[in-house]
Amino acid sequence: MLPIAVLGAGLAGLSAAQALTAAGRAVRLFDKGRAAGGRLATRRIEHAGQSHRFDHGAQYLRAERAGFAALLEAGGTAPWPDAKRRVPVPGMSALGRHLAQGLDIRTGRHASALHRTAEGWMVAHLDAALVRPGRPMPSTPAELAGPFSAVLVTFPAEQARAILPPELAAPLAPIEYAPCWTVMAAFDRKLDLPDTLRYHGPIGWAARDSAKPGREAAQENWVIQAGPEFSRAQLEAPTEQVIAALLAELPAPAPLFAMAHRWRYSLLEVALGQPCLWDAGLGLGYASDGCLAGRAESAWESGQALAQRVLGA
Ligand SMILES: Cc1cc2nc3c(=O)[nH]c(=O)nc-3n(C[C@H](O)[C@H](O)[C@H](O)COP(=O)(O)OP(=O)(O)OC[C@H]3O[C@@H](n4cnc5c(N)ncnc54)[C@H](O)[C@@H]3O)c2cc1C
Repeated sequence: MLPIAVLGAGLAGLSAAQALTAAGRAVRLFDKGRAAGGRLATRRIEHAGQSHRFDHGAQYLRAERAGFAALLEAGGTAPWPDAKRRVPVPGMSALGRHLAQGLDIRTGRHASALHRTAEGWMVAHLDAALVRPGRPMPSTPAELAGPFSAVLVTFPAEQARAILPPELAAPLAPIEYAPCWTVMAAFDRKLDLPDTLRYHGPIGWAARDSAKPGREAAQENWVIQAGPEFSRAQLEAPTEQVIAALLAELPAPAPLFAMAHRWRYSLLEVALGQPCLWDAGLGLGYASDGCLAGRAESAWESGQALAQRVLGA
């Protein structure tokens, strides 16, 4: 039997790949990032001889059902900021690393096109470092991988629509995400603030990242996420302007350093309304948090649902 290609090694892609592998299917994943995990991300910043880590994507994980709860147990998570919410230790990306174990993942590869041949699907992919969002694709010829019996795409919907044929791209059109500007800042002293803050202004959420279990408690590292209105209005603003605007909202001294990350697809605003898409005739499927709800658990469940559809097909 030909292997299955899973495009995207975020939670949805890793979940589908693990379930298919457990059922005895050969799977190969491709992801444009440097590591698996997608929006469950941890950024390491070196400053003055010290390593500072920030969970700049998802902040905490909550399991409402047994399957995801079991994963959080097995994946080495600890409660934070209360008993109902959990964080992977030593950083959010640890859960992606846990799920990636034993899987065949090609990172740093941007999947650019799918070709259907008599033997099966071929995936065109190229060095992700050469691809710049909003710019024309580089002229470097893409590599071809395959043939695959099926291809499962697990990117946020707008990115997935760029690669899927109209039969699967069209149903994804209603899915919408809000962007999120995120500032990572370190301070030389403890701020007189609680560990987590929820706002309804330019800042949507701020957290003392270094207070999470297993982090560098001697540091004072903060993650400050802008609200959707600010992020939309400032989407193309220079990074320095965004950093200054968000830090001005926080009662804090000048940071040791601050950096920003722009998530174009952050929290889901409009969902597909079904757990996944699967076209058995084409051998193409779609899973992500865009299917049901913008939470890590939903992404994982969408991947599980798609794997079951593939195995049942
Ligand atoms: C700022 C922020 C805060 C959040 N906070 C929380 C929270 O506190 N709790 C919670 O439960 N959820 C939170 N979320 C949502 C949660 O992170 C997502 O629901 C979940 O991680 C989505 O997983 P996914 O696999 O669907 O997508 P992703 O994690 O986005 O995975 C998609 C993968 O596809 C890859 N990819 C995209 N295009 C290509 C391409 N062309 N070729 C190859 N690879 C490609 C990407 O690199 C990525 O790894 C937050 C998200 C953000 C951004």
